[in-house]
Amino acid sequence: MAKIGFIGLGNMGGPMAGNLVKAGHSVKGFDLVPASVKAAEAAGVTAVASIAEAARDVDVVITMLPAGEHVRQVYTGEDGVLAVATKGTLAIDSSTIDVGSARTVHEAAAKAGVDMLDAPVSGGVAGASAGTLTFMVGGSDAAFARGKPIFEGMGRNIVHAGGPGNGQVAKVCNNMILGITMIGISEAFTLGEKLGLDAQKLFDISSKASGSCWAMLNHLPVPGIIEASAANRDYKPGFAAAMMLKDLKLSQEAAVQADAATPLGAQAAALYAQFVDAGHGGLDYSAIIKMLQGR
Ligand code: NAD
Repeated sequence: MAKIGFIGLGNMGGPMAGNLVKAGHSVKGFDLVPASVKAAEAAGVTAVASIAEAARDVDVVITMLPAGEHVRQVYTGEDGVLAVATKGTLAIDSSTIDVGSARTVHEAAAKAGVDMLDAPVSGGVAGASAGTLTFMVGGSDAAFARGKPIFEGMGRNIVHAGGPGNGQVAKVCNNMILGITMIGISEAFTLGEKLGLDAQKLFDISSKASGSCWAMLNHLPVPGIIEASAANRDYKPGFAAAMMLKDLKLSQEAAVQADAATPLGAQAAALYAQFVDAGHGGLDYSAIIKMLQGR
């Protein structure tokens, strides 16, 4: 079992750290917010007072932070992870961040003799709590082999996406598909309703025809058809629209850098920005149907 330092014990990191304790690892944790540290302590994590303390004398450091700037700071800042970690430590960043920052931190880690994996997740807070997250992992084969048993304590589906940064590439591409398809489904169900077609009928037909897709089968934005849909709970997330917007912005940033044409991704980002700017960022991302219905 490994000695693990966990930095970022928020909505996702807290339950992930708790699951590592349950899996038998020895976990010390740090967060800037005392209430998050307390909650993690209740789940068996040993609280420490700084990033440096979390990263010292461990086999593995895991970070679960809001964005690229936090990840760069936590790894490469003064008294950051790379300043104190022993050579040969494995560092895993599971935050969702821009591909550029992920690759910058990979390079700094390599210089410090630290093995690095970018490993963003999908599955949300429910998946983090249940230990059923999907990990999309970028980094060397050797680092992936070291990380796999650690991921298995927190998730179910663990995929090696390729070299440094490729976990983040997979995450932004996947969520760009999700954002675009949710808008497509919302438009089709709105059009169907306005033309007098019952939503259940459209679902029965489309879900077994060429229009079917994961978002339709799992997160249908109209109520009363799919049990797990946020539409049945007044669009309580789930996956918040603000989070979708964050990921769509990351995909647009990556598209500009890679000179890739993503006109539908750009349109999806613009529509989610409009929805979030109108004050609905805390609703589930499927609530975008309300805006398209003009409600
Ligand atoms: P969160 O805001 O709840 O947690 C982030 C934590 O990082 C906070 O507790 C914050 O205090 C801590 N933090 C920030 N800077 C720090 C520092 N310098 N040192 C120590 N701690 C620091 O966010 P979250 O919902 O847990 O999400 C974390 C990451 O996971 C994000 O990148 C997010 O995009 C991604 N993600 C979230 C979800 C979700 O459903 N919440 C799903 C998939 C991916």
